[in-house]
Amino acid sequence: MIRRTNIKYLVVALAVIYLLHLYFTTNNSQPSLSEQSESYEKLKFKLEIPIKEDPVHNNFNHTRQIGKAKACFVILIRNGDLHEFRATMRQLEDRFNHKYNYPYVFLNDVPFTEEFKKFTRALTNAKIEYGLIPKKQWSVPDYIDTELLEERLEELEDDGVMYGGSLSYRHMCRYESGFFFRHKLLDKYDYYWRVEPGVQFYCNIDFDPFAYIRDHDIKYTFTVSLREYPETIPTLWKTVKEFIKKYPQYIEKDNLMEFISDDNGKTYNLCHFWSNFEIGDLNLWRSEAYLKFFDYLDRKGGFFYERWGDAPVHSIAAALFLKKHQVHFFNEIGYKHEPFMHCPREEKLQLKCHCDPNKNFDFDSYSCTGKFIDLVSKWKHEKFR
Ligand code: GDP
Ligand code: MN
Repeated sequence: MIRRTNIKYLVVALAVIYLLHLYFTTNNSQPSLSEQSESYEKLKFKLEIPIKEDPVHNNFNHTRQIGKAKACFVILIRNGDLHEFRATMRQLEDRFNHKYNYPYVFLNDVPFTEEFKKFTRALTNAKIEYGLIPKKQWSVPDYIDTELLEERLEELEDDGVMYGGSLSYRHMCRYESGFFFRHKLLDKYDYYWRVEPGVQFYCNIDFDPFAYIRDHDIKYTFTVSLREYPETIPTLWKTVKEFIKKYPQYIEKDNLMEFISDDNGKTYNLCHFWSNFEIGDLNLWRSEAYLKFFDYLDRKGGFFYERWGDAPVHSIAAALFLKKHQVHFFNEIGYKHEPFMHCPREEKLQLKCHCDPNKNFDFDSYSCTGKFIDLVSKWKHEKFR
């Protein structure tokens, strides 16, 4: 009898201990956001340091621009990507743009929030413009069969293709392929540098890449290249070949077909420049050849029924419409978009960077940069022999 009572007490005591434990652990969890800001308010009061507005960021002065090319950064981005982009923008400013003050153009399919504007403005002295994408350029065109589209989204999703089931990703790829350069905010520029949230710039860029490409007649540049997933572009090459046949006048004789095909155009070797980084000439995309090319591809529906990326589309166009010397590899610009990095290998360049050259992707078997370098050096050798 006595023993039983003892066990009862023990159970009650354990229950009390457990409840006390619960009480203290819940009380130890993070205070709510409003409680946190109250604490910071108290701290401010204690320190009695008034928070001043930073004058630099509040009086943008247009005449500060030092880079003289008609050029800007162009960033297609969602409001939700703000904090990832801040890290990128900080690096871009520190490594390059604080000396040049090239303007930024942010583009979005929905309006930018005041928060987005405030936080991006605080990172630069350069001019920033925020643009809205015309609805028509971010919608499914009427010649697309929406039922078939639904089926294909499901199919690609089930096949485990990255972004296979995403419609917004398709709008993004189609917009970057065919429309960004037509945005009215870009009308005043000839050159652009595409930047994405989260990418890293590892090296001091103490030259002006825009002026460099302008002065060397370069129209398209890259830092990373790789091979496309074939499941995303089953009919792309067939469509490109039809275009070449229909419009042979647009194909440059001194082209880079060798970069994108290992059998003289019969098949696509999947090599492309990774377009999340691009410094280029907007007039390449505004050219009659490219506009016809984009329209031809767009009408075939592959941006929707398949998942054609802007990287293979831009790369194939650059390889077909440009001369060999007009595509350039920017070895000096250390760069990473997860998971691939270009980190310069030469010591004199490395000394200006903070990346690990042993993690360089350039000569990986999935990269095409080695192939590009071989091709260009062979061509230079023949030309300047
Ligand atoms: P990934 O690099 O192929 O994995 O694709 P991301 O998700 O990085 O998208 C490429 C670029 O387009 C990034 O700059 C994104 O911020 C932007 N982006 C992607 N989807 C959307 C979208 O629905 N709306 C807007 N405004 N930007 C987008
Ligand atoms: Mn990205």
